[in-house]
Amino acid sequence: MPLDRHAIHAVAAAERQRFADTHPASQRLAQESRGHFLAGVPMHWMSDWGTPFPLFVEKAQGVTLTDADGRRYTDFCLGDTGAMFGHSPAPVAEALAAAAGRGLTSMLPSPDAPVVGRLLAERFGLPVWQLTATATDANRAAIRWARALTGRSQVLVFNGCYHGTVDDTFVRLKNGRAVHRPGLIGQQADLTRHTVAVEFNDLAALEAALSSRDVACVLTEPALTNCGMVLPRPGFLNGVRELTRRYGTLLILDETHTLSSAPGGWVRQAGIAPDMLTVGKAIAGGLPVAVYGMSAAVAILAEAYLARKEPGHSGLGTTLSANLFSLAALRANLEAVATDAAYQHMTGTASYLGHRLSELFALHHLPWCVTQIGARCEFQFAVSPPANGREAEAAMDPELEHALHLFLLNRGVAITPFHNMMLCAPATTRAHVDTLVTTLEAAIAAIERGVP
Ligand code: PMP
Repeated sequence: MPLDRHAIHAVAAAERQRFADTHPASQRLAQESRGHFLAGVPMHWMSDWGTPFPLFVEKAQGVTLTDADGRRYTDFCLGDTGAMFGHSPAPVAEALAAAAGRGLTSMLPSPDAPVVGRLLAERFGLPVWQLTATATDANRAAIRWARALTGRSQVLVFNGCYHGTVDDTFVRLKNGRAVHRPGLIGQQADLTRHTVAVEFNDLAALEAALSSRDVACVLTEPALTNCGMVLPRPGFLNGVRELTRRYGTLLILDETHTLSSAPGGWVRQAGIAPDMLTVGKAIAGGLPVAVYGMSAAVAILAEAYLARKEPGHSGLGTTLSANLFSLAALRANLEAVATDAAYQHMTGTASYLGHRLSELFALHHLPWCVTQIGARCEFQFAVSPPANGREAEAAMDPELEHALHLFLLNRGVAITPFHNMMLCAPATTRAHVDTLVTTLEAAIAAIERGVP
């Protein structure tokens, strides 16, 4: 039986009140911040958690958040992946403490640079790399390179995608055509002039779009992870690789979230060779660092392009990218944190979580499904996992998510806002998972009873 709308509404209202009553220090800090920050927070997404005022975090360690009121939370959101390996992993914290005394930024490389280059090449299987400060910027750079090297203007993305705040990717598919996604602030340029979109898992639509031979690159995650979760059907990614090769289009894979799959990301494990690859967020343990890599063939073209480029600004790079501090964090994270052993634990714990959630939904006869990508789990309000962005969007229920998330948060469990993503870090235990599942069951029971 579907959950009653009035009950969802009542539980959400009661949880908002409960939050307001039990977080006086966060409330005071919110009042103090209000006059000096847009939306009352230093970055406006921080007010999007559905709480009556933002939760102010005093400390984040391992998988525990401690808020300004001294309340503790088991964190399955993990900074929406930035802290996938836990908050402040010791090797990164130690490397940063040492690096801080040696200098932070100089616009010159440090001796960590060749080590980091080798580690990235070994891990992801692409030989040549660049650093940026965010995954957004890595994707923006990869798109620019693709356009420069192919001489083509169009970019193809899949409906439901998110690759950071990269203008070229802000489209959705409506009645078979790309349109601007709703909500963009100050958007003036017509993004649909140079961006096309098709549904994920639709090779026929992809081929139709690529056959015009004006598409510079396909930019995609190996699985869509920002509209809920959409896994590739067997053979889909191989098909994407084959079609992009056939039509002279570069394939850029964004592994920012699917880095949860394995140390070298999803595609390394699947044996798919992209032309370019981007990864950000967790790659340096939570510091603002991202990377993009190129195949040998693309790197040769890019070097030749640089050699003959007209003088003037490239339009790529930012001043603090690859600074001394970033390189130290990246090196420590690759060498000592994102290890095979860490992944083994994270994936095993996430499998346990997926199993427990499936059991819970079956017990309550809820038509909800669970999807796992290595250390990452997602539950969606659909009987079976969605096959594309349209189906994933149809499975979303913001009001129900809001009620569940707030119920969890008020009882010391944090999961990602916007959809139902949970990550397992090296410090996540089965006991943490049991707490999450038991608390979620209490939330479902409260809605079923109709009273909070
Ligand atoms: N790529 C993917 C797949 C992402 O999910 C995100 C952020 N959610 C980004 C890129 C952009 O990351 P950032 O906001 O750190 O630039």
